[in-house]
Amino acid sequence: MSTGTGTSTSTRTRRVSRRVSRPLTTTLAAVALAATGTLAAGTGASASASADAGAGPARAAACNGYVGLTYDDGPSGSTPAVLSALTRNGLRATMFNEGQYAAANPSQVRAQVNAGMWVGNHSYTHPHLTQLGQAQIDSEISRTQQAIAAAGGGTPQLFRPPYGETNSTVRAVEAKYGLKEIIWDVDSQDWNGASTDAIVQAAGRLGNGQIILMHDWAANSLAAIPRIAQGLAARGLCAGKISPQTGRAVAP
Ligand SMILES: [Zn+2]
Repeated sequence: MSTGTGTSTSTRTRRVSRRVSRPLTTTLAAVALAATGTLAAGTGASASASADAGAGPARAAACNGYVGLTYDDGPSGSTPAVLSALTRNGLRATMFNEGQYAAANPSQVRAQVNAGMWVGNHSYTHPHLTQLGQAQIDSEISRTQQAIAAAGGGTPQLFRPPYGETNSTVRAVEAKYGLKEIIWDVDSQDWNGASTDAIVQAAGRLGNGQIILMHDWAANSLAAIPRIAQGLAARGLCAGKISPQTGRAVAP
């Protein structure tokens, strides 16, 4: 019977290894515990992915439509506060990250994902892309794809060109990387010193499927989050994801 036992253990080891990507010592310990029947294979493997995303008051309300909240230029030291405010108010958003900051703050990229946010590409160094040649544009976009993926943010499907500036060369590079170009319908003007009131009012102009531009670093946009949530809920609108197919805000 020793041969049969060996086969069974080997099968179980392969199954656990496939399901869980962990250091070998951890996997072996799990196998040992599983063999004694005290631990189901795979238990705990997805604990880090079970973020309490979107659990908030707005989640329970009926959604008659969806809007896309976007925060550009992160991740930064402001990101934890933005994520906390969004989560507390039951909102999800798309974070258009700069590659240079994703590389410098990979833990904040993971925090964005764990908070239920979507991560897009906003170039590596935030240049005026329309003033660059195709090779430089390619470098800006490809390095950002790599930096975000390396940080654990997945491979972005959405691209927002800095300043909303685009042309046929930029669009050709976007197409090469399978990226959907996303500009905006409503500019909060938070980059231009807009007050919290003005930012709340801007969000109040969003219709179903539309997208608003805000920034990770803008203190007034952070302060506006609770009132943006209240305003959307009062209009039966929910914060959605941006479809890589249509570029419009849709149900998550
Ligand atoms: Zn920007």
